[in-house]
Amino acid sequence: MRGPLVIGNWKMNGSRHSIVQLLDGISGLGRQAGIEVVVCPPFVYLGEVGARLQSTGLRLGAQHVSEYGSGAYTGEIGAAMLADIGCGYVLVGHSERRALFGADDVRVARQFEQAQGAGLTPVLCIGENAEQRAAGQAWEVLRRQLAAIEPIVEGRAPCPRTLVIAYEPVWAIGTGAAADPQEVQLLHGRIRAVLGAAGRDARILYGGSVVTDNVRALMAQPDIDGVLVGGASLSAEQFTAICELATGS
Ligand code: PEP
Repeated sequence: MRGPLVIGNWKMNGSRHSIVQLLDGISGLGRQAGIEVVVCPPFVYLGEVGARLQSTGLRLGAQHVSEYGSGAYTGEIGAAMLADIGCGYVLVGHSERRALFGADDVRVARQFEQAQGAGLTPVLCIGENAEQRAAGQAWEVLRRQLAAIEPIVEGRAPCPRTLVIAYEPVWAIGTGAAADPQEVQLLHGRIRAVLGAAGRDARILYGGSVVTDNVRALMAQPDIDGVLVGGASLSAEQFTAICELATGS
């Protein structure tokens, strides 16, 4: 049974003050039946946000995890540290990490493995950019990025309790131009098929300019199990409405 999952990625936004206000506005969402809601604040606020989420039912996620376990890796944050402070989820391979911070497929695979090893749920983000889409290479790119979890797909590594993939076409992120729900459905169906047995319970999210106007049509597709929300997750009003619409209410 794949219940809807909504993840808010706050990216590098906010302050202690604005985050408290945002949390005040969304804390009721964790008590909404039939939906799981995760927020991913910037690293420095994880502890404080985690403390404020206690007993709200909202889940805590991080935006990035190191490919290394521990040691002399200045500036990095290890998976065990995230688990230690109460994180349950972590984004892995977000397109901004891939494009700006050198997260190639090999590093993403290691990050996924670290997160899984520490008991976190890694959210593997995949997606083609505008040029790749124009060249008709979208599926080829997704297929290559899915290699990060090849060991799971081939049964050589244990499947996480909850396998989560986020399809985020780069050209749709932060542009206001979300992908067409039927096109997304087509790709999600292919992703699920590639995952084989692991695909049955895997949750495949869509991300890229999700707003209140498009979330219902996206969630109506059988293979879209949730959404990853960037910009709109910074507004308590919009994020609340997106979560409500995602459950069909
Ligand atoms: C994202 O960065 O993961 C994202 C989906 O952003 P936005 O919703 O702003 O397009």
